[in-house]
Amino acid sequence: EGSGVKAEEIDDLAKKHFPMCMRNLHESLTRDRHLKHMGRLQYGLFLKVLGVSIDEAITFWRRSFNKITDDKFNKEYRYNIRHSYGLEGRRANYPAKSCQQILTQEQPGPNESHGCPYRHFSEDNLQSALLASYSAQGLKTTDLPEIMHTVRAGHYHVACTRVFEITHSRGGVKKGEGVGGGESVTHPNQYAARSRELEK
Ligand code: SF4
Repeated sequence: EGSGVKAEEIDDLAKKHFPMCMRNLHESLTRDRHLKHMGRLQYGLFLKVLGVSIDEAITFWRRSFNKITDDKFNKEYRYNIRHSYGLEGRRANYPAKSCQQILTQEQPGPNESHGCPYRHFSEDNLQSALLASYSAQGLKTTDLPEIMHTVRAGHYHVACTRVFEITHSRGGVKKGEGVGGGESVTHPNQYAARSRELEK
């Protein structure tokens, strides 16, 4: 999907097309100029699959981590970014994590931003994050009870799918259509790809 995403386009894409997990990682990175290891891994692999080349990824992370020296960046981060692109170590082509993996693997601790906000945020934090991230795309306070009902039942990806439908209703997406053909969200890259497709 979507080849040739430039470093400077990521912020705009995040605001228009990213699911809540990636919005949260993007916003934490923008705010703190840093992300812990698991967050870098979750976000970095997602950006790779989104179509960010290795050179653009290095540019993006270098600009984002703007409180550190070039030396520190090169020593501590460049290798790991190249590694996630299969250019170092055993040169594996690492896939981006699916919702299932994000929901069930390492839970985020304090000051960590990876994971799935539908599952890992408190109810209050989730509701404010959803409004802050998606009100520009039409999400309203009155949409929250339905979403929170789904979250409380443990159907996190269903809640995410409902947010996708609401925030793409201007693009003609109706309730129950999900990310296409009634499918619910199973992968953050599927969410972003479908969102970008609808914009065309
Ligand atoms: Fe991300 Fe999946 Fe959670 Fe949606 S359901 S926020 S895509 S991990």
